[in-house]
Parts: sequence; C-alpha cells; structure tokens
Amino acid sequence: MKVTRKTFDEVMIPCYSPLPMVLEKGKGCYLYDTDGNKYLDMTAGIAVNCLGHNHKGVTKVIKKQCSKLIHACNIFVNDQTLTLAKKLTAISGFDRAFFTNSGAEANEAALKLARRVAYDNYGEEKDQIISFYHSFHGRTLFSVSVGGQEKYSKGFGPVPGGITHIPYNDIDTFTSTISDKTCAVILETIQGEGGIIEGNIDFIKKVRELCDKYHAVLIFDEVQTGVGRTGSFYSFEQVGVRPDILSTAKGLAAGLPIGAILTSDELAKHFTPGTHGTTFGGNALACSVGSYVVDTVSDEKFLQSVREKGELIHKLLTKLGKKYGVFDEIRGKGLMVGAHLSKDYLGKSGAIQKLCAKYGLFVLVANPDVVRLTPPLIISNRQIHQGMKMLEKALSEFVKTESKSN
Ligand SMILES: *Cc1c(COP(=O)(O)O)cnc(C)c1O
Repeated sequence: MKVTRKTFDEVMIPCYSPLPMVLEKGKGCYLYDTDGNKYLDMTAGIAVNCLGHNHKGVTKVIKKQCSKLIHACNIFVNDQTLTLAKKLTAISGFDRAFFTNSGAEANEAALKLARRVAYDNYGEEKDQIISFYHSFHGRTLFSVSVGGQEKYSKGFGPVPGGITHIPYNDIDTFTSTISDKTCAVILETIQGEGGIIEGNIDFIKKVRELCDKYHAVLIFDEVQTGVGRTGSFYSFEQVGVRPDILSTAKGLAAGLPIGAILTSDELAKHFTPGTHGTTFGGNALACSVGSYVVDTVSDEKFLQSVREKGELIHKLLTKLGKKYGVFDEIRGKGLMVGAHLSKDYLGKSGAIQKLCAKYGLFVLVANPDVVRLTPPLIISNRQIHQGMKMLEKALSEFVKTESKSN
C-alpha cells in the first residue's frame, strides 16, 4: 500500500505534527526514509533506541525470544521477567521490581504505590503529592496532572486532586511546602522535556532529608535519565541520593515498549495481589531485550564512553553556539544534552529542528527554547563530528534567514 506523509493528515488523530518524511528503516545511528534519504539520528526515538537501530545483538535476542514466548500475562510468571527483575535490582540496589509498558505507566504505578503506603500507614489525610514546575511524568491523567507543565493537563479536568506544584531547585519554597500531609515528592534529576534543567545536588539532598523527616516517599522519575543516558546506569548514583521508588522506561528495552518501578521490600509489600496490575507489563519479549540492554549498558567501559562522548558534544556545541550566537548555554549530562537558545532566538527550536532535517540530521527540541540531543549511546566520535557539521549548516542558514526576517 502506498502511503505518504499526507496520509498522516488524512487518517491519523492529529496529536503530532511530524517532520515531512516517512521513515522506513534504520541501521546503527542512521535512519532512512521511504525515498531512500539517509539521516543521522541524534534523537534515538527520544532517548529510547540506546543501542541504535537494527542492532545485531538486539535483533538476535528478539528473534530467539519470539520463537519461544512473546507474552503470557501475569497469572503466570516467565523466566525472562524474573531474569530482568534480578538484573535490575542487583544493579540498582533496590529489592523489587514491577513492570509496565511505558514511562507514564511506571510513574502511575509509583504514585499509586506512594498513595497506598501513606494510606496504609497514616490514613487518607496524608495524600499530598509535591511536584515541580517544568517536570514531565507522562500523559495518563494522573501522571500528566502531576507533571509541572499546565499546557499538557489543561482542558482535561477534573484532574486528580492533592497535587502541589512548586519551583524546582528552590529549597526555601520546598521547605515551607512539605508537611505531615505530604505522601510523595516526585522529581527528575535532570528535567528532560522541560528543557534539560539540571537538579541542584544540595536541593535534592534537602528533598531527601525532608522526605525522611515527614515520612514522604521520594520518587525519582528516571524514565529519561536512566539506562546509561547520563553516564551512569541510573543518574541517582551521580547525585548521591537514593530515592524510595525509581521509575525507568525509555531506553530499557532498546526500542520495545517497557517500563518499571524499582523499590524496597518495605514499600513493595503495600501492593498486594489485586491492588495494581497490567496485561502486557513484564511480557517475556520486552524483558528478554531488557536483560540484554542491562548487560550491555552497565559495562563500566560503555558508561565511560557515554561520559566522554557527552563531553565532546558539549565542547562542539559550545563552539558552535559562540560562532553563530545562537546558544547561550549548553546543559545536561552524558548523552542527554540541551542547547538553550540565546535571547534573540527564543522560541525558535522547532525551526532549527526542521533545518537540521533538511541537512540530514535529526535532533529533538525540549520546549521552544531548547534544542535537545539524545543520540544512541553507541554513537561514534566520528558521527558526533559529522552531526555537528550538519548542525552548523543548519545554524548558518537559520541565522541568515532570521536576520532577513528582522
Ligand atoms: C518520556 C518521559 C515520560 C513518559 O514516558 P512514556 O513512555 O511516553 O509514557 C515520563 N517521564 C519522563 C521523565 C520522560 O522523559
């Protein structure tokens, strides 16, 4: 059947406004459209395809597992789910795992668990969830309401109650907001969708301290920062603060849908049979790939290379930003990088993204003011240099067009 980008406008619910090409296949860090054009992919499906496209090892695991068992549902348990749970708990130091199919569902589970713990231990008065402006936790009604970007939850009311949003990295406001009524605090150690905004370590330490004082559950949403993205398997290792519940997804199965929460024995016991569940979560196929990803990405040499490549991108982006005056700040850790637009170009990240595609480079935006790069973790230094050359062409054209239109 012949389909084109126009087909999108005819048959898809218009939640998105995708770039002009239709993708057909990928190999390593490259994507190809149906016209045979080749693009360097610095999006990795929004920090998902951590091992790139059509990765030999991943394909092999998928083929092997789908000839055995894809899905059986949770009235059974299968060897792949258990294996991944053992690996994830071993690597993170948590005791227990619950699997989902996405980041939003992982956060949904984390938030429900926190509410349940507070309800069981202290009663239904302890229901307040504290979350931060610019945070993003997914699109289910609960997770989107907890997220700190009103534009995403507006118009879907009534939204779940008991949620308080306050500024990120603001110790004083946090200290005056948390109380005995607080059941959970949820944060991203680096806010991803919100613009690659790094959490201040003193702030996160204070959050931990006050969560302990007020018996509130601390949730780290590591859906984007996790699975090697920032240069350690989970970013909490670099922050030096351990959450009570960690949510993970995106890169965990190299492109197959998966998510999980990790937590302690003490909290896990509040989810008893029947209190929470999922049909697809923990299916054998996604979990088999998850195990392969954990084995590959947790290797110290692999993580070291992510840190080094992150530094290279930072260096090259800083140079480009200065040369064209387009970026005033390069942020993020490892291969989760944001380039903040300088004053004259605020709001234009989408235009830069389109121009990059024209020159054969796929990049992301994180709000209208930030160009975001989350390449496959296997990207080579050569490909990084290649990508930055394409970006330079795009920026050069961007600056010219902007000066004409002003
Ligand atoms: C992407 C993302 C989510 C949502 O994940 P989905 O798989 O799209 O549901 C939640 N939290 C963070 C931090 C994310 O980056």
